[in-house]
Amino acid sequence: MAGEPQSDCVFCKIVAGEIPATVLRRTERVLAFRDIAPKAPVHVLVIPHVHYPNAAALGAAEPEVAGELLAEAGAVARDEGIEDYRLIFNTGAGAGQTVFHAHVHVLGGMPMNESMV
Ligand code: AMP
Repeated sequence: MAGEPQSDCVFCKIVAGEIPATVLRRTERVLAFRDIAPKAPVHVLVIPHVHYPNAAALGAAEPEVAGELLAEAGAVARDEGIEDYRLIFNTGAGAGQTVFHAHVHVLGGMPMNESMV
């Protein structure tokens, strides 16, 4: 069922403490931890505890949690001391999504002047 933990989901296992992660922030509904394969000096993932396949599905079902995800992403950037950063929501395998539990990447700590948009 949407929102329920999935036994085959790596991020659900991180939320449950079954897989280790470098956790930076934890609230009752949201978790922030360092990406295991960082693409920038600061590369943090912010995820909801509840399982939805992507951020849009989370936003449609639980908009308050989606809002907290964004607030926590901003708090991560503040904690990491970066003012300029990117928030990326890969959605669908064709867009590079590899873990189908909603998450936002917080990327920063280096110049990122090139952009597709
Ligand atoms: P995406 O490609 O948008 O689905 O992003 C998934 C991200 O999760 C990738 O950047 C991976 O490096 C990261 N990742 C996968 N497994 C772990 C893990 N066990 N701990 C931390 N990050 C992970």
